[in-house]
Amino acid sequence: MEIKTHQQLHIFFLPFMGQGHTLPLIDIAKLFASRGEKSSIITTPANAPLFTKAIQTSRSSGLEIEILLIKFPSSEVGLPEGIESSNDWGKTAEIAEKFFKALTLLKHQVEQLLHQYHPHCLVASSLFHWSTDLAAKFGIPRLIFQGPGFFSLCAAMSVTLYQPHMKVASDSESFIVPNLPHEIKMTRNELPSFLKQEGETELMKLLRECRETEKRSYGIIINSFYELEPDYADHYRMAFGRRSWHIGPVSLCNTAENDKLARGREGSVDEVHECLQWLNSKKPSSVVYVCFGSLNTFSDSVLLEIALGLEASQQQFIWVVKKENNNQEEWLPKGFEQRMDGKGLIIRGWAPQLLILQHEAVGAFLTHCGWNSILEGVTAGVPMITWPLFADQFYNEKLVTQILGIGVSVGSQKSEDGGVKSEARVKWEAIKKAVTEIMEGDKAEEIRSKAAALGEIARSAVEEGGSSYSDLTALIGELRSFGS
Ligand code: UDP
Repeated sequence: MEIKTHQQLHIFFLPFMGQGHTLPLIDIAKLFASRGEKSSIITTPANAPLFTKAIQTSRSSGLEIEILLIKFPSSEVGLPEGIESSNDWGKTAEIAEKFFKALTLLKHQVEQLLHQYHPHCLVASSLFHWSTDLAAKFGIPRLIFQGPGFFSLCAAMSVTLYQPHMKVASDSESFIVPNLPHEIKMTRNELPSFLKQEGETELMKLLRECRETEKRSYGIIINSFYELEPDYADHYRMAFGRRSWHIGPVSLCNTAENDKLARGREGSVDEVHECLQWLNSKKPSSVVYVCFGSLNTFSDSVLLEIALGLEASQQQFIWVVKKENNNQEEWLPKGFEQRMDGKGLIIRGWAPQLLILQHEAVGAFLTHCGWNSILEGVTAGVPMITWPLFADQFYNEKLVTQILGIGVSVGSQKSEDGGVKSEARVKWEAIKKAVTEIMEGDKAEEIRSKAAALGEIARSAVEEGGSSYSDLTALIGELRSFGS
C-alpha cells in the first residue's frame, strides 16, 4: 500500500444496477482503494449481496472500501418490491420503462449521502445523468463510468451523429460507419432496437439526457487499455472531445483466488472446485469456454442448437447455461450428457469466469461480446468466437474480428433486446464451423499467438509504469488538485 503523504481522497461510486456495470465499477473502487484512497459504493438492498463478499475480502486485505445502502424506489414507479436490477427489466418493455424512471428518483437519497459524507468525487455510471449537476452543487467533480470500450463508444457516437442507418434501403443493406479510423461496415439489423423506434421512449429520453450531460461532466473513466484500441482512444478524445482516462483491464485488480471467486454471484464452492479440477485434467488450450454473460437466457430451441454445434465440433467445452427452470432438461439432445461425459461440462447458473478464462486448459471463448467478457478474454490471451446478441455487442464483435484479428464470428446478424432469446437464428452448423475454425483451422495458430501477445500487453498495462497504471495515477493527481 502507498505511504500517504497527502490527504486521502474519498470517492463515491454509484454503479448502474446490473452485473455488467456493477462488477467493473466495484473493481474500479478497489483500484482506487489499492492506491490508498477511500471508496464508498452506493447501492440498493437487492444488489448489495452480489458483492458484499468481495468487499469483505478487500477490507480484510486492508483496503478502505465500504457499501452505503439506499432504497430502490420500486413502489414509487409501480414496480414490485425486489425488482432492482437489469436482470429483471429485460423481461417486459413496461418493466424497463418503470425501471429507468426509478433511476432518476435515486437522486434525492444520493444527495443526502453527499451532504452527510462530503466526498471528493462522485463516479457514477453513465445512465445517472443527474449526478453531474448534483456533484456540481456540492462543488465536486462527477466522473462518468462508461461500460464499453473506446471503439464501441466511437462507433455508437458516429451512428447517433450521422445516422447512416437512415440512408440505406433495408435492414440488411450494409453501410459504412462514418468518420472512423477504419472502414467498418454494419447493417441496421445489428443496431440496438431503440435507434430504430419512432417517438421517444423512456430509454431514449434517458440516453439523450446522458449525452447532454456528458460534455459537462469532469470526464470519463474507460475500462480499456491504450494499446488495445489506440486509434479509437485518440479519436474519442480528439474527434469527440471527450476527456477520458483508460484504467483497465480493471478485472486484473482481482489477483487472489478468493477475489476471483467472490466476483459476482457465487457458484457453490464444490462446483467451482469440480470445474477447476476438470480443467486441471485437460491439455493446454484444449477446452472451449461458452458463456453469454449475466443477462441472457435462451429458449430450448437455441440451447439445442448450441448443444448440437458443440457436440459436432468434437471439441471439449465448459458451457454456462442460465435458464429460468434448470431442472427440466428437455432442452438437451437425447443422451447428450452421457455422450459428453468427460468431454463437456455444463455449469448451471453462475460461473467463476475469471478463474476459468485464466486457466491454461482454455483454448477459446465463445462469447456474447459483452465488453467485460471481451476484455477478460483479451486479458487471458484467449481467442474468441463471437456471437453478439444486442446493445454494444455488435460493435465489440467488429473490434475483435476485424481490427484485432483474434476472433471468428458465428454469423449472428440481428440484434435482439434483453430477455429470453427465443428464436434459433444461429444454427448448429455455423457454431460447429466457428468452433472448429478457432481450435484447429488454418489460421488457428496465428490467431492464438496474436491473442496471447495481446494478453501480455493487457497485463503489463496495469503494472507500475504501464499505460493504464499511469492514467489512473494522472487521474488521482487531477482529483487531488481539483478546486485548489
Ligand atoms: N460473469 C461471470 N460468470 C457468469 C456470467 C458472467 O463471472 O456466469 C461475469 C463476467 O466475468 C463479466 C460480467 O459477468 O465480468 C458480464 O459482463 P459482460 O459485459 O460481459 O456482459 P453482460 O452481462 O453485461 O451482458
